[in-house]
Amino acid sequence: MNHKQALKHNIFEIISQSAEELQLDCFVIGGFVRDYFLERGNAKDIDIVAIGSGIELAQQVSKNLPHQPKVQVFKTYGTAMLCYDDIEIEFVGARKESYTEDSRNPVVEDGTLEDDQNRRDFTINALALSLNQDNFGVLLDPFNGVEDLDKGIIRTPLDPNITYSDDPLRMMRAIRFATQLNFTIEKKSLNAIKKNKDRIKIITKERIVVELNKILESDTPSIGFMLLEKTGLLDYILPELTALKGIDEIEGQRHKDNFYHTLEVVDNIAKTTDNLWLRWAALLHDIGKAPTKKFQKKIGWTFHAHEFVGAKMVYKLFKRLKMPLNDKMKFVQKMVLMSSRPIVLASEVTDSAVRRLIFDAGEHVDDLMTLCEADITTKNPKKFKRYHKNFKLVRDKIEEVEERDRVRNFQPPVSGEEIMKAFNLKPSKEIGIIKDAIKEAILEGEIPNEHEAAFQLMIEKGKELGLTTA
Ligand code: ATP
Repeated sequence: MNHKQALKHNIFEIISQSAEELQLDCFVIGGFVRDYFLERGNAKDIDIVAIGSGIELAQQVSKNLPHQPKVQVFKTYGTAMLCYDDIEIEFVGARKESYTEDSRNPVVEDGTLEDDQNRRDFTINALALSLNQDNFGVLLDPFNGVEDLDKGIIRTPLDPNITYSDDPLRMMRAIRFATQLNFTIEKKSLNAIKKNKDRIKIITKERIVVELNKILESDTPSIGFMLLEKTGLLDYILPELTALKGIDEIEGQRHKDNFYHTLEVVDNIAKTTDNLWLRWAALLHDIGKAPTKKFQKKIGWTFHAHEFVGAKMVYKLFKRLKMPLNDKMKFVQKMVLMSSRPIVLASEVTDSAVRRLIFDAGEHVDDLMTLCEADITTKNPKKFKRYHKNFKLVRDKIEEVEERDRVRNFQPPVSGEEIMKAFNLKPSKEIGIIKDAIKEAILEGEIPNEHEAAFQLMIEKGKELGLTTA
């Protein structure tokens, strides 16, 4: 069967013509072809494999394009890339690969299309469509990848033991594709991942995090985390999560399995936000529960200060995985630290508690509410309804209080300079005391968040401190 309709974009015609001029064969391969069969929308990446020099083909294509786009050449990899019509097109010469024990970077030699398809990670990623003039649009599918797409199966073209051992990143990719596409990893492949799991150590943290992020960005991230757990990879990557597994029982009292609870929370939040960092916060919101777990007679299971401990663990975890230690990390820490605050509130929604919540969460108060709503995993429908209703009340109250008092991005209504001027003071601790008293009075609702009332309170507090106005 011919698949010309996949190659409607005029770039394919131009590549085909360029290859003809160089008298070499070329094919579009990998993700683009897979996503065409999956009807997964317009691809922004196209991979072209040339039987010959990929770099020369890229240069020829550029010549044949309007405005001759710049060709980026990656000599070490023998690849070249150019951008056309917002699409990144990567060119590579067909190759044959062989691997050594300690590296995922293979020894490479020129090869045929079959050699190149053999080196691909999965049958569904080894599909190629011909761009050659005599059979333009013909599918080359030596491993029945289209059948695997229909059945929803992740399978390696060659012996999975060798495929995963050669390049252990493929283990992460298998799980990532299974999550993104809601596919099943073939049993032989899954066993091979279990067997090779400790090879993940040779993969850089950055590459692992790319895959973790893609799993988290999927519709149902739990698919990936369950597979990471089942294969043993999660112990290497995120032991903080596997430490949450299990239910203990003492004196007939049990706590919930915080690992499975966490995965439910992540799936819940994936339905309401695309914010990757909020999804990370959901994944990590309970990690402090493992090191803080205690059984106390009379009280039962406690996780005292787990939010605080968890927030500290976030820093260590980000550092270990070489993730950015920037405002994203701080955001995740803040969400973990505050993850129980709205729950306490929900039982009695007072204005001052809401004002404090808005003050502490600042611009992230909506995200925090989203996290807490996702945290509702009770299987009791009555409780489920009640908790959501309570959070709705909190959300309404947040809106009402914020409209009135504007504490979300709190700016002290009386500045330090004004205080110094009023009492003729040099920088001193009294200024901090007065500013704090004003802030507290606003949060408690004793005075409105306005300059006049705050100025009045400043005078009173100054007097109490024995200061005289200038
Ligand atoms: P996505 O864009 O969703 O990540 P993709 O399949 O395009 O999907 P890329 O990482 O761009 O993913 O890889 C392009 C193609 O290169 C893949 O379809 C696959 O054929 C091949 N490939 C990528 N990484 C590997 C690997 N580690 N081992 C073997 N083949 C790989």
